[in-house]
Amino acid sequence: MSLKPARKAGLKKWSYQAAKKLADKSRAEEAATLLAESSDVTLADKMDTPARVLVKHFQTLHGLPATGLFDRKTARLLKPYMPKVKKRYRIGESWHAVTHGGIRSLKSIRNPIVHSMEYDQTGKPDGSAEALGRLSESRSYGASPHYGIDDDSIQQYLPLRFVGWHAQGDNQTTYGIELAGYAHWTRKQWLSHGQMLDMCAFVLAKNAEKCGYPLVRCNATGLRHGYRGVSTHNDVTVAFRIAGGHTDPGPGFPMDFVLATARGFAR
Ligand SMILES: [Zn+2]
Repeated sequence: MSLKPARKAGLKKWSYQAAKKLADKSRAEEAATLLAESSDVTLADKMDTPARVLVKHFQTLHGLPATGLFDRKTARLLKPYMPKVKKRYRIGESWHAVTHGGIRSLKSIRNPIVHSMEYDQTGKPDGSAEALGRLSESRSYGASPHYGIDDDSIQQYLPLRFVGWHAQGDNQTTYGIELAGYAHWTRKQWLSHGQMLDMCAFVLAKNAEKCGYPLVRCNATGLRHGYRGVSTHNDVTVAFRIAGGHTDPGPGFPMDFVLATARGFAR
């Protein structure tokens, strides 16, 4: 079944309420477009029940089992509706992390995991993302996030098709983004690093196309259920009860802002 009517209707700006109304009227395909194009920040923080209802409608319409899960088949059907991201930031790719867990398919990646490095630009002559790149190339470091982002650049240490070691308990289906900040930072402190957050949003949006995850929040419950979406290291710790696990990027991290920005890139 084609999703064209939603486009033809010229409904560009979606709000969750509008989509819910459509879903109630069984115009599920239009409602499902929300998942690809939503500009509604509130949805990002409530991926759980409401979004699952919309996914179920969409799946029913397309003859898939109504799991409410943004799984591979659902992602593939929605793909034509995932807008293309225009290239905006350059990504430094001269790094080769020595630690990894082998090859996987891009479509098996369900969640980007946002981390904080627990250090910032201070005292790093060429930048924190570069410093982490050097660390990832030393055998003694033993970890391998895929990206590091500081105030002035994005660096990639490991291709997405390699399993990275960055979030114990959930490495196989995730990829890691390390931000040059601290888990104790307040929302205001994070927001004062606008360019870093913007670059993080860019990476999230760019890879959403490749992997087929929606630009919505996936919390600990979502992770446990295998949902697709954007998560944090703390979500992994909570979801899989990792003893002594990390809590980064901390409660002050402005995930709503970053996701709204990422959806802006994906337009
Ligand atoms: Zn972490």
